[in-house]
Amino acid sequence: PLDKDELGRSSWGLLHTIAAKYPENPTRTEQKDMTSFFTLFSKFYPCDFCAEDLRKELKADPPQIASQEDLSQWLCRLHNRVNNKLGKPEFDCSKVNERWRDGWAD
Ligand code: FAD
Repeated sequence: PLDKDELGRSSWGLLHTIAAKYPENPTRTEQKDMTSFFTLFSKFYPCDFCAEDLRKELKADPPQIASQEDLSQWLCRLHNRVNNKLGKPEFDCSKVNERWRDGWAD
């Protein structure tokens, strides 16, 4: 099985890549579906205490689904709160599209 850190790295990669490809002008259905996606993700994320924490985060600060920029910045801030909790350095959210959409190798 994947350990918690491998799972986390792969999952953040998937989530940030999804946010990077989210439409600039999403339809109402796309917006509703993206909110549902995060709700469901937080119910099934296979690290129980991570998932519980994520559900609290989503309740306090729901996904910002109005545009690609909004969603990517929201996810960056969420990831930074997890980084902070784990004592990891904060990521500069002005670089999020460079990292996850336009590309630089990690
Ligand atoms: P990761 O945090 O996995 O990041 C991967 C890459 O993303 C980095 O190398 C960097 O290039 C980029 N990055 C970093 N920060 C940002 C940002 N803010 N925005 C955009 N890109 C960024 N672990 C726990 O121990 N406890 C938890 O409660 C916990 N909760 C989690 C909740 C979720 C939803 C997820 C997906 C993971 C969670 N994890 C948790 C795992 C943890 O966040 C890390 O994934 C894991 O510790 C591996 O860290 P890493 O240093 O490889 O980098």
